[in-house]
Amino acid sequence: MKKITYLDHAATTPVRPEVLKAMLPWFSENYGNPSSLYSIGRESKGTIAKAREQLARLVNAPADRVFFTGCGTEADNWAVKGTAFANSGKGKHIIVSAIEHHAVLDTAESLHGLGFDITILPVDRYGLVDPDTLKHAIRDDTILVSVMHANNEVGTIEPAAEISAICRDKGVIFHVDAVQTVGNYPVDVDELGCDLLSASGHKLYGPKGVGALFIRKGTRIKSRLNGGGQERNRRAGTENIAGIVGFGKAAELAIEEMRGAMERSSKLRDRLRDGILERIPDVRLNGHPTKQLPNNLNVSIEGIEGESILLRLDMKGICASTGSACTTGNLEPSHVLLAMGIPHEICHGSQRFTLGRATTQEEIDYTVDALEEIVKTLRAMSPMYQRNA
Ligand SMILES: *Cc1c(COP(=O)(O)O)cnc(C)c1O
Repeated sequence: MKKITYLDHAATTPVRPEVLKAMLPWFSENYGNPSSLYSIGRESKGTIAKAREQLARLVNAPADRVFFTGCGTEADNWAVKGTAFANSGKGKHIIVSAIEHHAVLDTAESLHGLGFDITILPVDRYGLVDPDTLKHAIRDDTILVSVMHANNEVGTIEPAAEISAICRDKGVIFHVDAVQTVGNYPVDVDELGCDLLSASGHKLYGPKGVGALFIRKGTRIKSRLNGGGQERNRRAGTENIAGIVGFGKAAELAIEEMRGAMERSSKLRDRLRDGILERIPDVRLNGHPTKQLPNNLNVSIEGIEGESILLRLDMKGICASTGSACTTGNLEPSHVLLAMGIPHEICHGSQRFTLGRATTQEEIDYTVDALEEIVKTLRAMSPMYQRNA
């Protein structure tokens, strides 16, 4: 099999062996339904409680405020629609940032037809929300503000604590999509001051198909899935026990290893960035120079198409991304880069590299070599790139 250089950890991460090992018995040997009263059911219930504590510890939340969902997308949908429907008596105005994941943006837009008024908050050239602009956008009928902790495309880290102080002052619920940060960058629900926070298992070396929503005590929010009494009557449906166990185990490992992983990543990321800037002309960096996730590098390579670069990288076994995984295959430029004011033609040449815990220096050097060669070849054929012609 061809060796894969995987630099797309913002899209998903591999399940760690320790995580898989913890999950396996819960598919077959320990199959009891946690709602059943006999012993194997009680065991399932106990293991869910343990996973809830592991995840709660990672984000410094009380365990009984963490609710498991079917994915990060479901947690985002629950946060936005659940608060909208529970608080519509107070008002019908919702504010979301322009660079939210589609799980938040499209959910907010879906409420538009139901009489809700949505304000899309602009960002600056680095992708930052300005707390002052937010303050002025809040109205008497505003019920929810949703701003992500760190952006999945450019890695920009938002001023969540400042935003939460404003929301608290105005009595508005604050949701944070922390899917990119939980397990990869410190998250503390009290420091962030948020009322709601979304996470997803597969972005921190856990399995796909499991997410979670933190709900601060006293936050008015309606359930989105009705049925059985699971998740303390908040989210019906027989639990994905193996998935939840894996999510918990991944959270536990992250508590021990996150700091070291961040340090390693940021060194390798800087090496990748410096290598690209030294060897390839006409490259722009996207995202904030310091308020950025340590594993993210997003560049715009002028005069060529991101998709062409991506396919040629793939032929060399390198997995990267142009725009976000959800919009790949869609030739519209990324809504995040456009919101940052980057011109259309430059957006088209954007490439995202997101490093992981197993990324090596050899892989980084191989990627710089490969990219240099690919860019030379593509630019030589590109009518859009005239500079040295
Ligand atoms: C991946 C991601 C999601 C969606 O999570 P899923 O578990 O894949 O549904 C939501 N928000 C952000 C910022 C993400 O990166």
